[in-house]
Amino acid sequence: MKIELIYPRWPKLKNQPEFHLPPHGPVCFAAALPSDAEVSFWDEHVQEIEYNAEADLVAISCMLTCQMPRAWEIADIYRDMGLPVLFGGIGTMLHPQETLNHADSVFLGEAEGRMEEVISDVKNGRMKPIYDFQRNFPDTAAIKPARRDILHHELYNFRGVQMVDLVHASRGCRFNCFPCCTPYLGGRCFRPRPIDKVVEEIGGIENNRLFLVDNSLAQDDEWEKELFKALIPLKKKWISHPIKDDDEILDLATEAGCWYVYQAIIDTSEVIAERIRRYKARGIGVEGTILLGLDKHDEDYIKRLVDFLLDLELDLAEFTIMTPFPGTPVRAELEAQGRILHNDWSRYTCGETVFQPAQISVDRLNELNQYAWDAFYADCSIELKMAKLYVDVIQKEKKDGTFKRVKLDRHRQWGQGKDSRE
Ligand code: SF4
Repeated sequence: MKIELIYPRWPKLKNQPEFHLPPHGPVCFAAALPSDAEVSFWDEHVQEIEYNAEADLVAISCMLTCQMPRAWEIADIYRDMGLPVLFGGIGTMLHPQETLNHADSVFLGEAEGRMEEVISDVKNGRMKPIYDFQRNFPDTAAIKPARRDILHHELYNFRGVQMVDLVHASRGCRFNCFPCCTPYLGGRCFRPRPIDKVVEEIGGIENNRLFLVDNSLAQDDEWEKELFKALIPLKKKWISHPIKDDDEILDLATEAGCWYVYQAIIDTSEVIAERIRRYKARGIGVEGTILLGLDKHDEDYIKRLVDFLLDLELDLAEFTIMTPFPGTPVRAELEAQGRILHNDWSRYTCGETVFQPAQISVDRLNELNQYAWDAFYADCSIELKMAKLYVDVIQKEKKDGTFKRVKLDRHRQWGQGKDSRE
């Protein structure tokens, strides 16, 4: 069974540097396939797809809403070639009905333990239009190490710097934040993987730099402590979403190699300021993720928020405009109030306003988003701030003897020739 596995591109935010991380959904999907499946993987962010008419199945993996229109275009091309197309991933779960117009089949839910049935149906020419396992979660013990061997690793180096590999220790989330679709997808249920399996997978990753892509590690104190204790001997350096703001847990995270965290910053309170100081006091960097356009945001608030972040000496900040994705509490609220402007999903990038803000105009919110990026990075560019974080991790690696130089034959990047030193 020859499978073309496709990860369609999406429009990058205009203020972000042009680097790409290896995707995680496709490599987890590939790990769940029967062992006789031959997978060719195409990540359209870093390579052009070579459309292969000889494949038995095309599987399209989607994470984001703004990825869907391009995914549908690719599916149409393959279906015109006569190949069966299967869709999966979070983006598919948020847009199943529209996707059915471009697919032979949509798979909703998590792949572990289900792919034997799907592939058998493909072989027998009787794929079902929908495989719906969305509320029927597999045992997390069934999650196998992701198939990172299908990635073209050399395409994920950025200017000669080894970017992170992605891995997850849990699924789901017990919280219910207003802009987030995770509770809709995961049923507000935190589902940790067995820690020994996580350690086994992480220990087998060649790259020393990782991104634990779990929604939030701050779900269960005892689990979090056990996880960090188990990671200490591996000496990896990792990024994650928030960690519980607790002295013992933060100390363990530091010892376990926490390099920096993504921390949502929702106001200018002392609680948030103190939380950031406590990360930084332990040498953990902080990238703030800041949503603009909440109902309480007027022009003054947004400007004060940027000043607050600068005063805190945050390492990096990513400003996005609140976007009402399907399945989120905020979409239900804005829909009820008639404030959604359109459903052009290719524009649901978080880089432009797609709803009517409460206190300012649509155009002004777009301008203030750009103001926030410009003001935060006025004295030091995003590239330089990122470089500082990388210098930080290199120093940590040199201190504990884990630093590895990027191999010269892995320097080639998307869109560039071979490294000049070759
Ligand atoms: S934003 Fe994070 S913590 Fe909140 S519901 Fe979503 S995944 Fe959970």
